[in-house]
Amino acid sequence: MAMDTVTSRRQFLKLTGIGTAGIAAAELGGLGFDLAFAGQRAARRKLEGTKQTASICPYCAVGCGTLINAKTENGRTTIVNIEGNPDSPISTGSLCPKGAATFQLAVNPLRKDKILHRKAGATDWDTEPMTRDQAMTRITQLYADSRDATFVEKDANGKLINQSTGIFALGGATNDNEENYLIAKVNRMMGVVRIENQARI
Ligand code: SF4
Repeated sequence: MAMDTVTSRRQFLKLTGIGTAGIAAAELGGLGFDLAFAGQRAARRKLEGTKQTASICPYCAVGCGTLINAKTENGRTTIVNIEGNPDSPISTGSLCPKGAATFQLAVNPLRKDKILHRKAGATDWDTEPMTRDQAMTRITQLYADSRDATFVEKDANGKLINQSTGIFALGGATNDNEENYLIAKVNRMMGVVRIENQARI
């Protein structure tokens, strides 16, 4: 059915199959009341009284620009928002899903801030957290034991390989560039060749 130039916007929406709810949303969202504007006002209110700092997403070598807004109250500084920096020549304000979730990593009530240890055979985490020194000592000992037990100096043909064959380094999605750099350096130094992390998109 041809649509003449006098067909109203409402008629057009009806003709294209958009129902009453769709019409209402279109009127609110695009042509009458701007829903995005209401969202922007709420976002601006959240940023009132904050200090903005330009930074760089820590997760990969793309180096997208971020803007971090933080508020200081009673001597305590809290991040209230992290978003893409439109002035960044690298990313012009965009962030991939991983970078866009940086705020949720930095400010998350579910985040553990103590080192927990689950002993072999245990069904739950110990209620007493380990100290950092205890955890580092244990990790270092287990690492050294595994390396000593599985180190292969030469392969079956007598070729020097110096490999720690019993250790695999697996990094998580929230390891940043510097952590992954150190993980790779330390493990290669110890003869580990199986190193993986989720630092790519
Ligand atoms: S992880 Fe995503 S947002 Fe962060 S620098 Fe890489 S591409 Fe950019």
